[in-house]
Amino acid sequence: MTSKTETASGGATIPPGGTIGILGGGQLGRMTAMAAARLGYRVHVFTPEGTGGPCAQVSAAETVADYGDEAALAAFADAVDVVTLEFENVPLHTAEFLAARRPFFPAPECLAVTQVRTAEKSEVNKLGFATAPWAAVTNLGELNAALDRLGRPAVLKTNRFGYDGKGQVKIGPDDDAAQAWASLNTDDAILEGFVDFVREISVVLARGQDGVIAAYPAVENRHRNHILSETIVPAAIPPALAAAAERMAAVIAGDMDYVGVLAVEMFETRDGRLLVNELAPRPHNSGHWTIEGAATSQFEQLARAVCGLPLGATRWRPSRMINLIGDDALDWEKYVADPEAHLHLYGKPDIRPGRKMGHVTWVSR
Ligand code: AMP
Repeated sequence: MTSKTETASGGATIPPGGTIGILGGGQLGRMTAMAAARLGYRVHVFTPEGTGGPCAQVSAAETVADYGDEAALAAFADAVDVVTLEFENVPLHTAEFLAARRPFFPAPECLAVTQVRTAEKSEVNKLGFATAPWAAVTNLGELNAALDRLGRPAVLKTNRFGYDGKGQVKIGPDDDAAQAWASLNTDDAILEGFVDFVREISVVLARGQDGVIAAYPAVENRHRNHILSETIVPAAIPPALAAAAERMAAVIAGDMDYVGVLAVEMFETRDGRLLVNELAPRPHNSGHWTIEGAATSQFEQLARAVCGLPLGATRWRPSRMINLIGDDALDWEKYVADPEAHLHLYGKPDIRPGRKMGHVTWVSR
């Protein structure tokens, strides 16, 4: 199990016993590390956030350093066989620095697309897939022009580093554009037409180094305060729409020559169209149900993909996942008392409002 062999794409297969480096120390890394350990891999986590976090608790090694610390990055690269990430906003320079030293998946070129909303939307539109109408906005004048063109309501978002509804503001018919612009405190933004959607869905897929894709079914996501609260598997949408969503996700991954796990978030509009909202270049909260609800979890798929192994089956059963956010985690006793509930807690010591503390999955048998 110590020799490395060439994969079809020319990358190296890293056999069990090897070390997977993960950038980011949260729950996505934790669940990836647990899946990787089951396959006999070690995980080395690199995080700026302090020692003993959710991922480090279940990893073989931890580096606590800034993403700009090149000495720490070089030592990390020397200590691992391959690098992936659980935090999508790792600086591009960090990704490029590591990719020059070790196999790095998904490639920095993919991150360059997924980190910037306008680049992401351009990529999706280029492939012929719809998004909300949008415009890049760098000053108040451009915002006013974009509002004239796209109409109100609209959603103004920071172009980079947004998540869970942070860095965005809705501009309604009576709202002051100047105030909205000032509140974002950036000169790099995007205005999107407001989508009056029926539901939000997502497709999570894995793509291996050989280009093989394994997708999970389209799921429905319900949010509370812009944070995912519940995922229902499968989404209650017509089979043709589900198939279209899965095909779109596969085409996007293929076009980017993506390796790893990719989530594609979409809106279903009232007239039955799908608009792509966002891409996530990592395991996704709407894929946590796959740990118990699918033959192979999204986390194991990530370990397999980055190590050059074949992907596992994505056979699945209807499931439901709820997030435990903030004080929800105090209800853990209720969930362990339910023999059908799969309780996951992320080992975060402090409960804070809006913080993802764990999740619970139920699978229909
Ligand atoms: P995002 O950070 O882009 O994923 O947005 C967070 C949430 O805000 C989404 O899950 C939607 O519920 C909502 N949202 C974002 N963009 C729009 C839009 N253009 N129209 C309507 N709702 C939106």
